[in-house]
Amino acid sequence: MIYVRDDDVLLPSRQWPDPLARFKEVHEMLADFDFVIHIPTLLTSELDRYPEAIDYIRRETNDGWMIPEFHGTSHIDYADLTPEEILQDYKKGQDWFKAHLGVEFTRHYTPWGAGEDERGAHIKPTAVAAGVVVVTCAALLEPEHIIADPYATYEKYESREIFIHWWAGIGKLERALTKIKP
Ligand SMILES: [Zn+2]
Repeated sequence: MIYVRDDDVLLPSRQWPDPLARFKEVHEMLADFDFVIHIPTLLTSELDRYPEAIDYIRRETNDGWMIPEFHGTSHIDYADLTPEEILQDYKKGQDWFKAHLGVEFTRHYTPWGAGEDERGAHIKPTAVAAGVVVVTCAALLEPEHIIADPYATYEKYESREIFIHWWAGIGKLERALTKIKP
């Protein structure tokens, strides 16, 4: 399997007046590749505005085509929070995941990659206490890297995670996945 990490679902974007339609377009494109799992990283307070999106994510998760993970209760800098505040925020996030999606998240994909530097040094150990793995923006694999790689194959990228934003163009992602299609 290859994973596609899709950040900021469904943070409003001037570019996409109908964020749900755009998100579905990304997911349906990915569904053409049966070796790909979509990992939308969710902002729970943003999703409250789109009940239809919540239903969609729950269905696709049940069917095994999505692994929703946590980006934040909102798009905040987690380095600004104390460990206690982070744990409260995770609790709020997990309650939301259980109530709306019927699953818990296991990873926190932090906004702006918080947790990688000195300022956010407390985030990873705090998350461990909550059973959550922090994923930052270190060593991101983007569609461009695969397109530019003359030796790209499925085997080479197996288990890796490709990074996109749901609102960005999907042409390059589609090209990258077509290139490594086994
Ligand atoms: Zn973000």
